[in-house]
Amino acid sequence: MIEVRGLTKRFGTQEVLRGIDLDVARGEVVAIIGPSGSGKTTLLRCLNYLEQPSAGRIRIGDVVVDADDPPKRKRQATHALRLRVSMVFQSFNLFPHRTALGNVIEGPVVVKGEARDKAVSRAAALLAKVGLGNKADEYPGRLSGGQQQRVAIARALAMEPDVILFDEPTSALDPELVAEVLAVIRDLAGEHRTMVIVTHEMSFARDVADRALFMADGAIVEQGEAAALFRAPKSERTRQFLQKFL
Ligand code: ADP
Repeated sequence: MIEVRGLTKRFGTQEVLRGIDLDVARGEVVAIIGPSGSGKTTLLRCLNYLEQPSAGRIRIGDVVVDADDPPKRKRQATHALRLRVSMVFQSFNLFPHRTALGNVIEGPVVVKGEARDKAVSRAAALLAKVGLGNKADEYPGRLSGGQQQRVAIARALAMEPDVILFDEPTSALDPELVAEVLAVIRDLAGEHRTMVIVTHEMSFARDVADRALFMADGAIVEQGEAAALFRAPKSERTRQFLQKFL
C-alpha cells in the first residue's frame, strides 16, 4: 500500500531524512519510535506531502509522486494522495467553529462533494463508533482533549482513506485521557486498516503494531516484528533508547 524510496528531506542545510526506504502492506499497522528530533514527524508529513520531500519517490496505492516531478504533476498527485491518506495530529486540529458532526462531514462534503444527508448519517455512525454518539452537536471547546482527538479520528475515517497516519496522537493529552484514544486506535488496528503511528507509547506500540521502526538521525536504524523488536532489539542504539522506558 505504501512504498517509499530514497526519501530525503532537508530544512536549509540540515538533512532530517537521509534516504528512507519503507514498505507498508495493505492492512499493516506500523509504529515509528525514536528519540525526539530523529525525523519521525517529518517522515509522516512527507507521506501525504504536508512537507515537500527534497528527493525520493512515494507511492500510496496507485498514486506515485516523485520529488523530481514537474510542479503541475506534483500538484495533481498530491491532491490524489490526500484523498487516500488521512492524518490525525497531535493537537487535534479541529475547526473550533464547527460542531463535532460539522467537523466530521467537512471533508466528505467539501473535498469529495458528497451529498450532505449521506455525509451526516455516516458521520453520526462514526461518532458513535468512537464513543461520542451523544456529542455530535458539541463544539470542540466543550469537549475534553480525549474527546476532541476521537472526533479527529472520526473525521479521518469519514474520508474512507486507504491509509491513516497518526502523529503522536496522545502526546497532548492529560494522562487520564490517553487510554480512551488508544482504545479507539486499537479497535481500528483490529479492523486491519493500514496505519502508520508515530508514538511514545511503547507498550501500545508493542501490543498493537504489526511492525515497529526505530528511527534515529533521519534514518531507520532497525525495524522488525513489533513484539520482537521490543523484546530483543538488535541494535545497541535501539536497546539504549528502549531502556529509558523500562
Ligand atoms: P521527531 O518527530 O522525531 O521529533 P521531527 O521530524 O519533528 O522529529 O524533526 C526532525 C528535525 O527536523 C528536527 O531537528 C527539527 O528541528 C527539524 N524540523 C522539523 N520541521 C522543521 C521545519 N519546518 N523547519 C526547520 N526544521 C524543521
